[in-house]
Amino acid sequence: MPSINPFDNAMHNLRQSGSALGLTDEQIEKIGMPDAILERELSITMDSGEVKVFRGYRVQFNNARGPYKGGIRFHPEANLDEVKTLAFLMAIKCAVVDIPMGGGKGGIQVNPKELSAAELERLSRAWVRAFFKDIGPEKDIPAPDVYTNPTIMAWMADEYSKLAGKPTPATFTGKPISAGGSQGRDTATGQGAYYVLEALAAHRGIVPRETTVAVQGFGNAGYHIAQILHDAGYRVVAVSDSRGAIYDKRHQGMDPKNIMLTKEEKGEIGGCYCAGTVCDCENYQKITNDALLELDVDILVPAALENQITADNVERVQADIILEVANGALTPEADAALFARNRVVVPDSLANAGGVTVSYFEWFQNTYAESWEEEKVQRKLREVMVTTFDAIWKRALDQGLTLRQAAYHIALERIAAAMQKRHS
Ligand code: GLU
Repeated sequence: MPSINPFDNAMHNLRQSGSALGLTDEQIEKIGMPDAILERELSITMDSGEVKVFRGYRVQFNNARGPYKGGIRFHPEANLDEVKTLAFLMAIKCAVVDIPMGGGKGGIQVNPKELSAAELERLSRAWVRAFFKDIGPEKDIPAPDVYTNPTIMAWMADEYSKLAGKPTPATFTGKPISAGGSQGRDTATGQGAYYVLEALAAHRGIVPRETTVAVQGFGNAGYHIAQILHDAGYRVVAVSDSRGAIYDKRHQGMDPKNIMLTKEEKGEIGGCYCAGTVCDCENYQKITNDALLELDVDILVPAALENQITADNVERVQADIILEVANGALTPEADAALFARNRVVVPDSLANAGGVTVSYFEWFQNTYAESWEEEKVQRKLREVMVTTFDAIWKRALDQGLTLRQAAYHIALERIAAAMQKRHS
């Protein structure tokens, strides 16, 4: 099997849309060129007294529209190529939803599940010390990503403020409310995906209670979208974490809250569905993550990691709608095959943009000393997601494009215009 280089995939999408739009080779090359690729050693003392060294990353892409913006992931397989790809995707995403920011992504190659809370805190603070000069409220604003969370953002913001000698909460978003976070940020990725699906449902005549959904991934994005869909009446028939999936064979629908309780108790999702103390192990089955992607469902939501639907398994994907909540979950070959089969792929830059949108609201509130009610956050988030969906949907229909191509067209026009303005 040829290995998939995620950066090549992103560059393929950039070149295809850039040349269709009439951008010059020079413009395309500039947009695909990171402004900075930073890799530093982070050394911390473990609880045992031993000193350990980890690799920390930050990649920054195109600040013509505003400061760099994007999460930090802690993952054993995090590497520079992945972080570079995801940083580029952030530049596209911010432009898709018209947030005045560029692209950034950071990471640490670590399995956070193997660290104690104290070690995790030391490592998080070490990342900030290593990249202190490269980030800041007007320069580069990190946020949570895979296996990072509000607590980690609070440590990081605190470390930054100490080094800066003054409170600087706007350097990080996704903080807890008590540390200057925004209402609605914790559920924003899932909520944004839901607003997009609601807009799509209106076009496709989707009736939630007759619609089955499988969600891959049970982190911040996956869990919340599953719960929001369940609460809206959709039948969530499969969900998974990194160890495997639970599948509801009768397609009646499960409440993700119950699955979360089992996961917290047993450490994995397992094959039994428990509501309170009553568990059913007969009508539910443990299946693999790969099998989840191939289930006969109406909507598939990859919400875990990149490169999940590829040339290898796309022919077996049965869902009519794929809501790409994880960044880079589909390769260009998978996109093309699904388009040829008239399937709707809602691309990452639209499907998961709710997270960075509310991050921007958080940065704005911190910068202008405002504090918005949840209702205001939701109203503004919905407005951004629906406006963006409508523009992409119309562009795709008018020009015979995939939704991803339409999103790229809109983003690249905005980025190219900002670059032109800067140089004029
Ligand atoms: N990590 C999230 C993403 O990939 C959120 C980024 C942010 O809020 O800046 O979009």
